[in-house]
Amino acid sequence: MVHFVGAGPGAADLITLKGHNLLQRADVVIYAGSLVNPELLKYTRDNCLIYNSANMTLEEVIDVIKKAEKENKDTVRLHTGDPSIYGAIREQIDILKELHIEFEVVPGVSSFFGAAASLNAEYTLPEVSQTVIITRMEGRTPVPETEKIRSLSSHKSTMVLFLSSGLSEKLSEELIMGGYEPSTPVAVVYKATWPDEKIFHATVATLPEIMKTNNITKTALILVGNFLGNDYKRSELYNPSFTHEFRKAENK
Ligand code: SAH
Repeated sequence: MVHFVGAGPGAADLITLKGHNLLQRADVVIYAGSLVNPELLKYTRDNCLIYNSANMTLEEVIDVIKKAEKENKDTVRLHTGDPSIYGAIREQIDILKELHIEFEVVPGVSSFFGAAASLNAEYTLPEVSQTVIITRMEGRTPVPETEKIRSLSSHKSTMVLFLSSGLSEKLSEELIMGGYEPSTPVAVVYKATWPDEKIFHATVATLPEIMKTNNITKTALILVGNFLGNDYKRSELYNPSFTHEFRKAENK
């Protein structure tokens, strides 16, 4: 059987208990290159076969899985963060289905959660933004016409940009053209939750400069929006004058 496992954002203890148990039992592990903390591979057994998929094609990954299946072995396909976010799992799943190979997906802590935790931030601040847009700048991988940064920016919601560190100049322009104020706060989180994590604060306008000065070209998330600012309303959920299913408002 094949287990697609989310490795978490970086810190080796941010994998789920289920993922950890599967790693301990695995006969074969195929991990997604430099974005998976090598510390996680120490959880495996001594005779576990370990492959780095960074230098493999989809076909080669499938060949390793097929061989393992023939020998009745358990394979962990270890993806960074959560497998559902830019994980390229769908193409693997469809082939496994065709081959009648059993599989499951085990979720992980995505790096955008790791980054929020490192910033002590809440993406959905009352009366600031109740929406998180998870996206990327168009690069060598195209983005559908209806999902260009410029049109997504009209919502002025919280925006999380994956895979866009090398494109910050164009990104800054598009965010501003789309509707964000140039002064909107931005945080860049490099290697969130890893021992060498770094955090940089900028604005939509100063983002390219901050990226350049600090030489950030990969393994970073760019977080945009007023959730990084200091104005917000407190929640109704914990407001003494608000009644809900589990609590009656205090009489004043
Ligand atoms: N499935 C992963 C994302 C894979 S795409 C997840 O859920 O996090 C790879 C991109 O994710 C990188 O280019 C970078 O933008 C981001 N990324 C992954 N790990 C990161 C980390 N620890 N800190 C900051 N960004 C990270």
